[in-house]
Amino acid sequence: MKKGFIKKQIANQYTVIDDVTQSEIICQARGKFRYMKVNEESQFNKQLTKRTKKETKVLQISPKVGDQVYYDDREDQVLITEILPRKNELIRPDVANIDQVLLVFSAVNPDFSFNLLDKFLIILNQENLTPVLIISKIDLIEETQLDQLKKDMLYYESMGYDVYYVNSKQAIGIDVLAHIFKDKITVLAGQTGVGKSTLLNALMPELGLKTQEISKALGRGKHTTRHTELYEYNQGFIVDTPGFSKIEFKIFHKEDLKSFYPDFVDYSKNCKFKGNCNHIHEPGCMVKQAVEDDEILFSRYENYLKFYKEIETQKDKY
Ligand code: CA
Ligand code: ZN
Repeated sequence: MKKGFIKKQIANQYTVIDDVTQSEIICQARGKFRYMKVNEESQFNKQLTKRTKKETKVLQISPKVGDQVYYDDREDQVLITEILPRKNELIRPDVANIDQVLLVFSAVNPDFSFNLLDKFLIILNQENLTPVLIISKIDLIEETQLDQLKKDMLYYESMGYDVYYVNSKQAIGIDVLAHIFKDKITVLAGQTGVGKSTLLNALMPELGLKTQEISKALGRGKHTTRHTELYEYNQGFIVDTPGFSKIEFKIFHKEDLKSFYPDFVDYSKNCKFKGNCNHIHEPGCMVKQAVEDDEILFSRYENYLKFYKEIETQKDKY
């Protein structure tokens, strides 16, 4: 059995790059690919909905771009025979094993929102995706406002997130950004209007337009043939997402929210309530103390309270 990774999918046809020869092999997958036995440790078995008991079960999965696979080329028709466990995956675009997600936010038009940033970070954390934060349109914001934004973003940098500031039109900040793609599968994401296409064009003028057409087609929902492709860029791979106007996290119990705040988790280690504190009105809460002492960014906590309420209200729908 030979091993490779899927670079491109058009309907049921997959382009696999062989691990050893680096050559491109066209492979098929059986219509209803295969049933795969997964145990409770498997990424395939992750439960994002209700707190149901994790158990060994049989799931039906299809190969997708980014998958590490085994293939059989002994017959004329080359077949994918096995998909290796994924570290993460997305549905739109249909990609697995993503190394980083470039989250693009504009400084203005639309205005930068810490609420949106925090929401994205929760979702990515939940999906085991690593974000890289890009702030675009820095030429359109007042200098004093930009300074304040950069100051607040230092908090996120101290949490371990990489932050880049770009002005794609004048290609400012692009050269610095260009080095982060090596040996990685990168997904470009952001809301409609943040300058994602302009950034993509600044990074890779030729492919920018091509992926733009695809994502537009995806956005319109008129894309009848399933087509997902990773584009080579600076010794790595990049894929665009259709811009979205609305994002939601899949958290159904408000008590689960806090676990997606790595900065809060650090403080609750020393908390007398341990894992049971929701940092709302528990007396002596270390997280609330850290907010008061300006050790936790106030907007982080403010948004936490908002999301906590959101989850509480959405619960009524079920
Ligand atoms: Ca996680
Ligand atoms: Zn607490």
